[in-house]
Amino acid sequence: MKKKKGKMKALIIILAVIVVAGIGGNLYLRSLGRVTMPKFEKIADGVYAYSEALNQSNMYLVVGSEKAALIDSANGLSDLPDGIAEITDLPVIVINTHGHYDHTRGNHYFDEVYMSEKDADTFEMWNDPATLEDSMKESPALIQMIMEYQNKAIEEMPINENWKPLPEDGTFDLGGRTLEVVETPGHTPGSVCILDRQTGSLFTGDSITNSGVLLQLKESQPISTYIESLDKMQKLIDDGTVSSLYGGHAEFSIDLTLVPDFRKGCEDILNGNITSDDREKGVLEVDGLPIKFNPDRIG
Ligand SMILES: [Zn+2]
Repeated sequence: MKKKKGKMKALIIILAVIVVAGIGGNLYLRSLGRVTMPKFEKIADGVYAYSEALNQSNMYLVVGSEKAALIDSANGLSDLPDGIAEITDLPVIVINTHGHYDHTRGNHYFDEVYMSEKDADTFEMWNDPATLEDSMKESPALIQMIMEYQNKAIEEMPINENWKPLPEDGTFDLGGRTLEVVETPGHTPGSVCILDRQTGSLFTGDSITNSGVLLQLKESQPISTYIESLDKMQKLIDDGTVSSLYGGHAEFSIDLTLVPDFRKGCEDILNGNITSDDREKGVLEVDGLPIKFNPDRIG
């Protein structure tokens, strides 16, 4: 009888744990779609950073004397005006490093938004919910389940179609501070980096990140084009203009050595100096990070 009671108790405890975990898990999943208050952290003189949501979409706020620029606006899951108001009350413009949804969906909070015209089609394509759903198909089932909640919330965000092309002279005057556009096609046709000479910072978007680089997308450019973009970054590092790289995903600060390492990786892919397994999978690991490419479109 005593044994039976003990068994019953264990069963009740197990059931209780399952119920509590289930409710907790469900609440957590639902919270993924909630708009939250961003807490920007200072990373350099007049430069602030914030990383949003499960896909760790990074945003950078650069403050001048007359204006502030928000470099990328992530998924739209943060109350950006309120978060920025904690730092500055200056007018804010948005500069998108490229047209992907996880860098542009927060644009709807702002009136003045800039993006490369070369990413107009990419922007349209990723605003179609089918593209986002398709992109999840290769992920493991658990990731798909978790991301489904977040993606649903992202899809419900308003889309700001009123973006302007990047200025012809490639500069943004923020008052006492000028940001410069550096074109770095590869991940997408219109990918750019944004240079802040004042702090020696280069904001790289998805052109190079601490989660690797994706060159396998439909809109990605040939690897040889991406190598030219890496060379541009390297030149800015070599002549002392750039001392810090800040990426569009994962940890903000990128080790400068990742640029030559990725360049070598890309050369190896181009020249066939990779294993047949890597080639088939379309992934080369460099410094523990993936360079993803399309094996049918190497060039
Ligand atoms: Zn991207």
